[in-house]
Amino acid sequence: MSEPIKIAVAGFHHETNTFAKKKTYYKDFKQADSWPKILKGKEFFTYFKNINIPMSGFIDSALQDGSEIIPLLWCSAPPSGKVTDFAYNKIINEIILMLKNISKLDAIYLDLHGAMVTEHLDDGEGYFLELIKKTLGCNTKIIVSLDLHANISKKMVEHSDLLEIFRTYPHIDMYDTGIRSYNSLIKLLNINFLKDKIYKKFVKPNFLIPIVSQSTISGPAKLLYDKVVDQLNTHSCIISISIAMGFPPADGFWTGPSLVGYGTDEKQLKITIIGLLNLLKDQEKNFYTKIYNPEDALFEAKRLSLINKRLIISDTQDNPGAGGASDTTGLLRALLKSKIKKAVLAIICCPKTAKKAHMHGVGKSIKISLGGMSDNEPWKGAAKILNLGNGKFIGTGKFYSGTKMNLGLMASLEIENNIVIVSSVKAQAADKSMLHHLEINTKKVKLFILKSSVHFRADFEEIKNVIICSSPGVNPVDHKKLNYLKLNNKIRLMPLSINN
Ligand SMILES: [Zn+2]
Repeated sequence: MSEPIKIAVAGFHHETNTFAKKKTYYKDFKQADSWPKILKGKEFFTYFKNINIPMSGFIDSALQDGSEIIPLLWCSAPPSGKVTDFAYNKIINEIILMLKNISKLDAIYLDLHGAMVTEHLDDGEGYFLELIKKTLGCNTKIIVSLDLHANISKKMVEHSDLLEIFRTYPHIDMYDTGIRSYNSLIKLLNINFLKDKIYKKFVKPNFLIPIVSQSTISGPAKLLYDKVVDQLNTHSCIISISIAMGFPPADGFWTGPSLVGYGTDEKQLKITIIGLLNLLKDQEKNFYTKIYNPEDALFEAKRLSLINKRLIISDTQDNPGAGGASDTTGLLRALLKSKIKKAVLAIICCPKTAKKAHMHGVGKSIKISLGGMSDNEPWKGAAKILNLGNGKFIGTGKFYSGTKMNLGLMASLEIENNIVIVSSVKAQAADKSMLHHLEINTKKVKLFILKSSVHFRADFEEIKNVIICSSPGVNPVDHKKLNYLKLNNKIRLMPLSINN
């Protein structure tokens, strides 16, 4: 019997919005939120079970296949401003030190995001992969899974053997991407054994795609990802093809979409990747999106309610999943001004309001100064406490499936006949479990205002009417409002149809 394949596994996730002022500290990686706290060694095997995270899919596949897994360290922090040098160096040094103590590794699998910027590095993952390669040498395969929002750099491609990227947004295939990463590793090892050469192809189009237009449920992104699967099924010489849509609110040379592929036939690989690049370029105009200002969004909500239709207003610019603070109050003010009733707005992260609600108890009315820490615009007024929660529950939607949420003290507050959800730890309002935790009957709600750009579409899929709204936040839908200094000067910023 041959020796099992020996694979070290590690993860280090951050999606850095370089325009967000709040830096990302080591404590943010240590703390649990909608993803786990920092995990080390055997903790991997207890946490990464039945959970939509790439590491979970990779470990399950590897163990089922009889491979040996050596877990190192896995951590993530919510998207926000630049990662401090201290946090970055502490985490990568710990992983490298762990690696140095292991001999005869066949491979390392890294579960990364792919858009990390630190105080002094624009390409956090590129430098990390370079360091991994220096440590392990050329005989150990380096397999990396990345988020669909990765801003892929040349360094990341050079210093890894294969990058495997999510194919869905909402990211309902994170677990599956872990499985694909393992399968691609096995293909690489087999090809290596046969001494065939493996070719790489990496290209980028010259425009940015707004986050709100990147959904793979329908439209141009779906067309592209369907074509990826079609090409993989057609050409057996191609090992893997991935497309990243990119993360626009990051000022860096490599910001933007990418295509990356691997195969044993250089000519076919080139034809396939360039074919996909041309398809992406042809779709540029189809990524244009209509954007509403808050007043117009609520006017539309009133119009739809008259014909008994349900609606979601996406407060995308303060989406914590894109680095927002999840505490701006622009849409809350517009909602109250509109006199609409029984809407649910989720989630405003305001630890002091959540704490005050818990001190007073259900049924009490309190004066609050809600949110607004990020833009000095807290909303001040009276609120009735409807329900309280400890913020600990399991994600139930397809995106947050199996996630052990830890959002700190939570409360649902009635403010002028509407319901506002408050948490102590920020998390993207993309899962109904966040509302069910506070006993909200989501089936009865006609209007949701969610601080999420696209991920909500997985768990709220039955609501077909969606409006993208430009209320204050650090994730502008209009990229021309971002003061890019380092972006590749060939990149074109996409004109959006802004209805204001
Ligand atoms: Zn993403």
